[in-house]
Amino acid sequence: MIRVVVSGAYGRMGREVVKAVCKTEDMELVGAADKKGEGLDAGSVAEAGITGIIIENDLEKVLARTRPDVAVDFTGPQAAYHNAISCINHRVRPVVGTTGMNPDQIQKIIELSETAGIGGLIAPNFAIGALLMMKFAAEAARHFPNVEIIELHHDQKLDAPSGTAIKTAEVIMEQREGKSFQEPVSEYEKIPGARGGEFEGGIRIHSVRLPGLVAHQEVIFGGLGQTLTIRHDSLSRESFMPGVLLGIRKAMRLEKVVYGLEKIMFEQ
Ligand code: NAP
Repeated sequence: MIRVVVSGAYGRMGREVVKAVCKTEDMELVGAADKKGEGLDAGSVAEAGITGIIIENDLEKVLARTRPDVAVDFTGPQAAYHNAISCINHRVRPVVGTTGMNPDQIQKIIELSETAGIGGLIAPNFAIGALLMMKFAAEAARHFPNVEIIELHHDQKLDAPSGTAIKTAEVIMEQREGKSFQEPVSEYEKIPGARGGEFEGGIRIHSVRLPGLVAHQEVIFGGLGQTLTIRHDSLSRESFMPGVLLGIRKAMRLEKVVYGLEKIMFEQ
């Protein structure tokens, strides 16, 4: 039985994780933390029935008392960094879905986990279809001279562009052997930002935020007389759960924190 704590248990993703863990035979929910919802039953909040696991506002205390195998984090970028460090200090495997941590923070977590010999995972996208979208985009990157990324999310999302869009741009650039994409020769932006954010290598990223959306992304390649569009849609937050459960199980066997679910899905 894998003993799991959920951090951000009152949030939209945290609730989904609570529900998924409660329904999974080889996992047990042993603790829940969040700044909000203190004193409430995590299962009731998640509409998964009463679990007896009460949401507390201090993750450190939850980790010290429950000594879980894994702590899943869906909070915010600043909290996620400190939570991951706390996990490693308590010898608990962090499985982090929170996006928006900077590369230095991610590197620091990986280094600390390696020194401590603690497995874990940081995954900006747990949707298996999204990982395939990135894999296919990486394949197409070698064959097209132009590309733009459009990511679309619900209007409560805090960071822009999304972690997935940045990760997609990174994997695309890895295939280019230092060669930039073409950009239109001369442009005049009548409204600043109309052409999106500029990632390295000439990749433009556009962020759309609207109520009703969950998480969606299009990678559009352009070439002579043709375009190729690779699109993925997460239609509900449940779409992330198979990836989260896979991440929890794999974290048990890793010896350091790994960045990207694709590392454990496609490479091991
Ligand atoms: P959300 O509904 O705002 O939930 C986050 C929860 O964490 C909130 O209740 C928040 O409370 C709480 N929190 C913030 N700081 C905390 C702290 N220091 N200690 C304890 N709890 C804290 O957000 P969400 O939609 O669930 O998304 C959470 C994160 O997951 C975001 O970074 C999002 O981009 C990411 N995400 C990742 C994936 C993936 O596949 N990896 C998929 C979807 C979303 P307050 O509101 O009071 O701050």
